[in-house]
Amino acid sequence: MFCEEVVGQPEALGLLQRALETGRIAHAYLFAGPDGVGKKTLALCLARALNCLDLDNKPGSFAPCGRCLSCRKIACGNHPDVKVVSPDGVSVRIDQIREIKKEMSYRPYEGRYRVWILEDCDKMTEQAANSTLKVLEEPQERSVFILLTSNVLSLLPTIVSRCQVVRFNPVGAAVISGLLRERYAIPAEKARLLAFLCHGSVGKAVGWATGRIPMPPRDEVIALVGGFLSPLGPGSKPGAILRAAEALEKRKDDLDEILDLLEDWYRDLMIVCEAAHHHETGHGATHEREADELSKALVVNLDKLETLEEQARVCSTERAAKSIGVIEATRQSIRRNANVRLALENMLFTLFPGV
Ligand SMILES: [Zn+2]
Repeated sequence: MFCEEVVGQPEALGLLQRALETGRIAHAYLFAGPDGVGKKTLALCLARALNCLDLDNKPGSFAPCGRCLSCRKIACGNHPDVKVVSPDGVSVRIDQIREIKKEMSYRPYEGRYRVWILEDCDKMTEQAANSTLKVLEEPQERSVFILLTSNVLSLLPTIVSRCQVVRFNPVGAAVISGLLRERYAIPAEKARLLAFLCHGSVGKAVGWATGRIPMPPRDEVIALVGGFLSPLGPGSKPGAILRAAEALEKRKDDLDEILDLLEDWYRDLMIVCEAAHHHETGHGATHEREADELSKALVVNLDKLETLEEQARVCSTERAAKSIGVIEATRQSIRRNANVRLALENMLFTLFPGV
């Protein structure tokens, strides 16, 4: 395959590999899929493959060398024929698209292809979207326009239909864990945890592993639940719930991640509660061992099994399952612009009734 950097996207890779092999490069691609699964990495890899100087001497080979002047310029972001365009502030503006349209009428300066990679293309203003449509309607020779989005549903259908759509999927935990161990020398236990916590986003897992992005506030979330679940915890008063909601509201930027962590934790609690229930109802020893092994394979926060077992004593499978629904409903209502504080208070009072 022409790109070794991207993992867990065999369909996207296969589609582009065939395009390179047959020389049938589309004028416009739409890379659609969740954040952190390799869309931009693959787009840059395609740009390198289309312009690598080393490939001139290697018929039948399509993997860019990564060492020639062209590959190095693209990696540094200063190749005159390869441009990455991101939203200017909150949106992609019409003058950014006009600039692309103008440049597209020129021949490549030094490469074989001119490539534009437009990040978050769903954030285009209406005028920018209309201008993009015009660009897509007038394809130019040796020009490739790659639009990236994690929100394909908010694009104009006319834009989608004029691009070759390349779908990206969340990457499986086993693949991510393997990548972290092999490429980043992360110990197995930590690799497993990060692979589960990232929910299919390789970018996030690698960012955490390399320290490029801060680790998610897992201990904080566990302490929050522990505080309220334990009958003797600090949360035995409604005031504590209100203060916790206030503190969470201030973490606006991390809120989605905190809700992910909460959901993971309750999912673990559900599994541990169910396993404990099996023990109580006295199934055979083999059956119990199987249940234990199964729960260990599924539990995300395996390093916190003791805490989970403690909390499971004051929780139940049903309560944990219901809590996951409550957290997800809160996430949805916040996305629909509900009052964040109110939504969080409502969530915490529902998760921890009677405190
Ligand atoms: Zn090269």
